[in-house]
Amino acid sequence: MSLSKCSILLVDDDPTVLRILQMYLNADEYEVNSAEDGLAAWEQINQRCPDILITDWNMPRMDGLELLRRVQQAKLPHFVYSILLTARNSSEDIATGLEAGSNDYVSKPVSPVELKARLRAAQRIVQLERNLRQLSESDSLTGAMNRRTFHTQLTREWSRAERFESDLSVVVLDVDFFKKVNDEHGHHAGDMVLVAVANLLRECCRPSDYVCRFGGEEFVVLLTQTDEAGAATWADRFRLRLAQTLVFSGEKTLQITASFGVAQKLEDTPDPDKLIDQADQGLLVAKRTGRNRVIRYSQLNDPMLDPFGNAELEDHPLARIPARDVMTTLVMCLNQHDSIMQAVELVLQLRIASVPVVDDDGKLVGIVSEKDIMLLDVGLDGWRKTVGDIMVTNVVAYDEQTPAKEIFEFLCRVSIRRVVVVRGGQPVGIISRDSFLRWFSNWIQANKTIDSFDADTDGGRRPLRSMEATISTLMRQSQYLLDQLQTTESVEDVVPYVVGGATCMQDLVNDLLGHCQQVFQP
Ligand code: GH3
Ligand code: MG
Ligand code: MG
Repeated sequence: MSLSKCSILLVDDDPTVLRILQMYLNADEYEVNSAEDGLAAWEQINQRCPDILITDWNMPRMDGLELLRRVQQAKLPHFVYSILLTARNSSEDIATGLEAGSNDYVSKPVSPVELKARLRAAQRIVQLERNLRQLSESDSLTGAMNRRTFHTQLTREWSRAERFESDLSVVVLDVDFFKKVNDEHGHHAGDMVLVAVANLLRECCRPSDYVCRFGGEEFVVLLTQTDEAGAATWADRFRLRLAQTLVFSGEKTLQITASFGVAQKLEDTPDPDKLIDQADQGLLVAKRTGRNRVIRYSQLNDPMLDPFGNAELEDHPLARIPARDVMTTLVMCLNQHDSIMQAVELVLQLRIASVPVVDDDGKLVGIVSEKDIMLLDVGLDGWRKTVGDIMVTNVVAYDEQTPAKEIFEFLCRVSIRRVVVVRGGQPVGIISRDSFLRWFSNWIQANKTIDSFDADTDGGRRPLRSMEATISTLMRQSQYLLDQLQTTESVEDVVPYVVGGATCMQDLVNDLLGHCQQVFQP
């Protein structure tokens, strides 16, 4: 085990002691800083957290015991190994010192040999803690930061960017046709590709940037002090390097590309999740418009990017259909003063994923989704909040007269799943991706444009076929979920799988009930 350089903070109100200790500690081996009392040390620790703290007991302003207690209780970026170095040496003193949180206790005067030996013991613990931290913060295959840790860093950088008014951007990238790599060359080759992408990302980033494996073959890079244009330039350079990189797996040599979405934190970007969502929307368009490219979020309204071709408005089946003809009529809304329990009951009762929220005049002010409720702290305080406290306020709404094609294109382009339809500012319906699928299905049947839809040849059996297909998908989905659960390595990854899988099965069950209705309404 190689012991990398440790940082030490020496704290003593006696300058002579500080000078002697500094003399003992080899600058090649340690990075040494000092403070003249507990309070000064505490301020330093919050600026730059040391690996090892050596502190005196009796000092003005703040004594060593209080300092140790604070270090114990604070949420510091990493573990600090502490040594109490004091002239007090009764058994009671030693016990009190260790109780306060000290990891070791040394009586003054200390010999250089003893101090060095104790510091080596400290270094072993520090290194062990570093290794454990590295394991818990990174993805085991690629060594990239895992999602949880990335989120913590993103939140930290977000606050820093706000404080210093500096730029912050994210790049989301997803390997193109990765499934084909697995299918054609095996899972091991797929894994080698992921490792190569992560290595190249690390090589191409600055030390102040963060690389995270977001899941599967998707990575996120957080670029500090970089605006969207700078991030897009970086992403494009990386894109070219990746496309030219050869990945070796056994005897095979593979070449891959990736697609990229880029977004910058702006004044109106509400939170870190939204920033990632915006970059994700860019990624989605990059995939739809041909892959192996970089799309910036600010570019998304560019008509040249239209992923649906330039079909004449007239030709499109949705061209002259207003939003109200596609929407699902709203049965109920929540009021912003309603309780969370009322929201839960409504979501469960109506079996819907999100509910618009209105003010006392019935005007749309937000939307609450299953996810917003799920993310509430499970403590009682969370449940005491009102719908207004947790709703998302930047809800996308369209007037009921809006051409449905416009909404269709919007939903194809972004990761948002549904929009609210309003009349005079009051919500009257919801249009989701399902709404369009249903509308298209009805339209095709009404126009009999596809032969197999001919009721004469198919008889009344179509709903049965649909039911069969849906049940098979349900079985596959539940088998997939079971496989995931049985093979998962990390327990904390299970919950998102189960929630995702269960939601998908829930939708399939709804489809199944829908097919039954068709039997009665042919
Ligand atoms: P697209 O260009 O649209 O992104 O297509 P794609 O094939 O890359 O994307 P898709 O989402 O269809 O497939 C991703 C595949 O990645 C499916 C999954 O089995 C595979 N995968 C996820 N994690 C790992 C992993 O850790 N190792 C390997 N070898 N494969 C993985
Ligand atoms: Mg992919
Ligand atoms: Mg993917």
